Amino acid sequence: MTPECIFCRIAANELPSTLLYEDEHGIVFSDLHPKAPTHWLIVPRRHIERLSDLTDAERPLIGHLLLVVNRMARQAGIDEAGYRVVINCGPAGGQTVSHLHLHLLGGRAMHWPPG
Ligand code: 5GP
Ligand code: ZN
Repeated sequence: MTPECIFCRIAANELPSTLLYEDEHGIVFSDLHPKAPTHWLIVPRRHIERLSDLTDAERPLIGHLLLVVNRMARQAGIDEAGYRVVINCGPAGGQTVSHLHLHLLGGRAMHWPPG
């Protein structure tokens, strides 16, 4: 755990969140500033700063997190319609929290024009 990291603190229950799912590897909670009707964050418990830090050692972990995305999309009822999964990496990628996370976005059309 990295004490100054908000997602580590949420995972450790030191900060509140709308926890939606947890297992030994990761947690899921609602984004504080949702960009879509469903905007959930899938977050590994372990502090990994960014996607580009992943190595072969994290191959099972990232696979697991993607399966959690699937499960959560079903739970949100957006699996049939479809959804978007986003990982921002680093400052130029728009990453603002330096703890790896996957955004699950759905419940509205992600493209323009919709339909
Ligand atoms: P990033 O920009 O790093 O890809 O995404 C960080 C996301 O975390 C943003 O969408 C932001 O709204 C969300 N966020 C930042 N701080 C908190 C927080 O304390 N609690 C929750 N639930 N979400 C947060
Ligand atoms: Zn962290």
